[in-house]
Amino acid sequence: MNDSELERYSRHILMPQIDLDGQLAIGAAHVVVVGLGGLGSPVALYLAASGVGKLTLIDPDRVELSNLQRQVLHSEKSLGQSKVRSAADRLHQMNTKLHIVEMPVVANSETLAELSDEVTVVVDCTDNAAVRYDLNRWCLQRKVPWVSGAAAGLSGQLMVFSPGNPESPCYACLYPQQPEVSENCSETGVLSPLLGIIGSLQATEVLRLITGFGKPQAGNMQIWDVAEGCLQTIRLPCLTDCHECNRTADTGR
Ligand SMILES: [Zn+2]
Repeated sequence: MNDSELERYSRHILMPQIDLDGQLAIGAAHVVVVGLGGLGSPVALYLAASGVGKLTLIDPDRVELSNLQRQVLHSEKSLGQSKVRSAADRLHQMNTKLHIVEMPVVANSETLAELSDEVTVVVDCTDNAAVRYDLNRWCLQRKVPWVSGAAAGLSGQLMVFSPGNPESPCYACLYPQQPEVSENCSETGVLSPLLGIIGSLQATEVLRLITGFGKPQAGNMQIWDVAEGCLQTIRLPCLTDCHECNRTADTGR
């Protein structure tokens, strides 16, 4: 790390929980952000500012006027642009060293197969159960941890999944039947800064997974209730006959 990088990341390096080794690990990390909307915006901004070396951005959508109430990566200038292009421009303004891979596509089993195997963490910032099923399978197969977030109205939640950790369920343990529809903020509305809260918590969990500070959150669900002003953490159960993660039991899980 050169002098300029030491200065840039000094507030991390000063922390004994991160230190130089942790910052080097952040710089060597490849994080895949799926969804560059309300949650993906703070996630990508904080990861870029934190010095993550490589970000792959996946989102098929274009920036619309109704996005600007909460999707702080994008601006009026980016209306009509693809979200990954708009996000990449903004993130490069923040950090020119950041390596960005743009994937303006839906995340599904075919497109996820194009990802390189050297992925450190995946962040789910979509509001789509089908995408989560595909992410769950991809992450189980490659033993890549992932952090899933969701928010609607006045409440949000996040979960951390660590394939290979016996205390961590997979997404299908929690939802054995794929939900037909996901709750979507286009129907329910969502409080703008709530996305900042949940997205920042997701970015925090990504950095925890990369550097190992504090208590691992795999197998926990954190729920933020804005109406009550409280954060609750609950333990998630593992299914013993899960059709997704049991399948990999034969291969050593
Ligand atoms: Zn499972």
